[in-house]
Amino acid sequence: MQATNMISSLTQHFLEKEALYGAHNYHPLPVVLTRGRGVFVWDVDDRRYYDFLSGYSAVNQGHCHPRIIETFIEQAQKLTLTSRAFHNDALGEYAEFITKFFGYDKVLPMNTGVEAVETGIKLARRWGYEVKGVPQNKAKIITCEHNFHGRTLSVISFSSDDSSRKDFGPFTPGFELIPYNDIAALQLALLDTDVVAFLVEPIQGEAGVIVPDEGYLSKAAAICKEANVLFIADEIQTGLARTGKMLACDHENVRPDILLLGKALSGGTMPVSAVLADDEIMLTIKPGDHGSTYGGNPLACKVAITALQVLADEQMAENSAIEGEYFRQELLALNHEHISVVRGKGLFNAIVIDHPNKDAAWDICLEMKDNGLIAKPTHGDRIRFAPPLIITRTQTDECIYIIRKSLENF
Ligand code: PLP
Repeated sequence: MQATNMISSLTQHFLEKEALYGAHNYHPLPVVLTRGRGVFVWDVDDRRYYDFLSGYSAVNQGHCHPRIIETFIEQAQKLTLTSRAFHNDALGEYAEFITKFFGYDKVLPMNTGVEAVETGIKLARRWGYEVKGVPQNKAKIITCEHNFHGRTLSVISFSSDDSSRKDFGPFTPGFELIPYNDIAALQLALLDTDVVAFLVEPIQGEAGVIVPDEGYLSKAAAICKEANVLFIADEIQTGLARTGKMLACDHENVRPDILLLGKALSGGTMPVSAVLADDEIMLTIKPGDHGSTYGGNPLACKVAITALQVLADEQMAENSAIEGEYFRQELLALNHEHISVVRGKGLFNAIVIDHPNKDAAWDICLEMKDNGLIAKPTHGDRIRFAPPLIITRTQTDECIYIIRKSLENF
């Protein structure tokens, strides 16, 4: 049966307004949300949905987490922005908190995820010239095919996704793509002494939750160390308890030389990202070399402390591991003819739809929406399932029921 795809006239009103006045750079599911709480969001017709995208993992702590919102309101009434031209009384406290939380010497605060990636690249290049001794303008960074690290020009310069790059050239040089989950390819790339860093997602999120072989990250980190090359982990989507550990790299006891965080660092309240590294790397950047008006603003600093504290206090990594494992087992148990793959770690999961209709994954998402669960296809045939990490067993069971019913109706 075709998905019913119910759209009310009120929903239609908002869809039309957005299409008329907003750039068409996204293709959202036709649902218009107006409030959220915990694992749920409600649309303008007051229909309730399980949120199985969690703002691309920005809302790991659940929508409008009371402690994060309380901190947000308290600080918003006191001081929101000073710029870095002056000091504020929250940045030092935050810097101490986050560096101790993750075990690094220093933090460089930014806003969006892609800014953290850009910062990591700049740091790696600077370190390459000043510490490693690579000749000027020769620094090379190794990245992986099917990566997703954001949308700025330098970052799309090493994307292998045609739709991200088409008609946006010329691109930034200095990047080399190798296959993901391929140690031999990395080994070969590292023979070039101009290589300063390997930038990698511990699990490729946008590509459809591609989990590398066990041991890939630890081997990659080890051979980077041997080659005097920095291991940069983009944990913007995989970090902050999403995969069942505080960092996805923790599954293999890997400590990245440069750690990139974003998204859930503010629990979905505002753009907050961070770059963590030790002094040898971080202190190569001097006053005036890099910055951002909003980076390190007191509102972001206070919110980020609470967002991290909430993840730890409410044991969200543990819940993600337990519920994620259960969720995958239940998905597998559906044994559905059109699900060819179930994969993931913790509550970071995806299914691959095997169906002659190329719009099948989209139609299944519409059907799930009508049944009270929202998720979004990626790359046509993959559907990512990433609910807030506070989901309970009863709720997981209800979601499995909705998914099963939607697949049956499809
Ligand atoms: N890196 C990864 C792994 C991501 O998944 C994303 C966004 O989805 C980004 C970077 C970019 O983050 P932002 O959209 O906040 O710039």
